[in-house]
Amino acid sequence: MSHSFQTKLLHNKHKVDPVTGAVSVPIQHASTFHQFDVDHFGKYDYGRSANPTREALEDTIANLEEGSRGFAFSSGMAAISTAFLLLSQGDHVLISEDVYGGTYRMVSEVLSRYGIQYTFVDMTDLENVKASILPNTKVLYVETPSNPLLKVTDIEAVAKLAKSIGAWTFVDNTFLTPALQKPLTLGADLVLHSATKFLSGHSDVVAGLAVARDEELAGKLSFLQNSFGAILGVQDAWLVLRGLKTLHVRMEQSVKSASKIAAYLEKHPLVKKVYYPGLVSHKGCGLQHRQAKSAGAVLSFELENEEALRTFVSSVEIPVFAVSLGAVESILSYPAKMSHAAMPEAERAKRGISNSLLRLSVGLEDEQDLIHDFEKALQATSVVKANVNGRVYHGNLG
Ligand SMILES: *Cc1c(COP(=O)(O)O)cnc(C)c1O
Repeated sequence: MSHSFQTKLLHNKHKVDPVTGAVSVPIQHASTFHQFDVDHFGKYDYGRSANPTREALEDTIANLEEGSRGFAFSSGMAAISTAFLLLSQGDHVLISEDVYGGTYRMVSEVLSRYGIQYTFVDMTDLENVKASILPNTKVLYVETPSNPLLKVTDIEAVAKLAKSIGAWTFVDNTFLTPALQKPLTLGADLVLHSATKFLSGHSDVVAGLAVARDEELAGKLSFLQNSFGAILGVQDAWLVLRGLKTLHVRMEQSVKSASKIAAYLEKHPLVKKVYYPGLVSHKGCGLQHRQAKSAGAVLSFELENEEALRTFVSSVEIPVFAVSLGAVESILSYPAKMSHAAMPEAERAKRGISNSLLRLSVGLEDEQDLIHDFEKALQATSVVKANVNGRVYHGNLG
């Protein structure tokens, strides 16, 4: 019988330990394993190459993303960087222009030193993507919805295009997780995750995951994981496994609140623009709902100017003001100075990541509490604004 995603999170191969019956995956600390036979080694020999606790997590994520094999790394960037080691000198990668800042830095400042070429493109514009393909293009790298403007890329169309030129499609699925979007089922070759975010969900572990669709690519990535060695430690693997058990309910609740908050902000006269693919005003709304279950729990919004932003940030009480996203607590962040600080200001401006843009990752608080908190903070910005144009906005909680 095939279970739904929600049930699979709990009832899978690792539900009980076959030796003891323990209902929590045992943490295996051993770095080396005794071999009982000189000629025939057991499944495990050395902790970098394979470890049963890490393997339980790798198995679980492969199952959830519907791929052939999963790999756990010490961070999202370790997963992404190891995946880029699939490329060789002289290869070219086409990559979403508003990609995560750390990925931007890896491609533009590290891979470039090894003779790997890159082009940042607006992946939502397929003609543009086609026109940017070079004879040596080996990877089309997609982040959808993108960060922080939540632009939606057609995964199936990009994967088809990649396939037609013999290139791989990599998708960073951090923002949606397999609870909402499964890129491998849409034709992607490799899914990447910062498991630091929604997958673990409690702001208490840094981890990365990758899942390959076919065995051949999985074999190459397995070789690289062992060669480069940026594996996830066993305690952290256990924390991600624990977080995964509640992924479905956390996503469901956060998405519900995020869509209400997005609608509230969009109607607000003191908010210039809201970026959330669940809003019908969002260009990618239709596509988002075709390729994913919902629009996710992250949204961005633009205030009048940087001064209004500063007032807003110092006035809100509930969300933490911090980098990162995808946690039980709502996280408000400032892309220009946080996730995208690695991007030069001119590049940021080109991508629409202004100094008055905030990103919100919605957690599990009561959504009305969040809306009241935002209303108070927005009113504080209106006082600032009133000093400029002689008018005070009195708020609207309806
Ligand atoms: C955080 C993040 C990463 C990097 O992951 P780390 O775990 O911080 O190394 C990559 N992609 C996206 C979309 C992210 O949000």
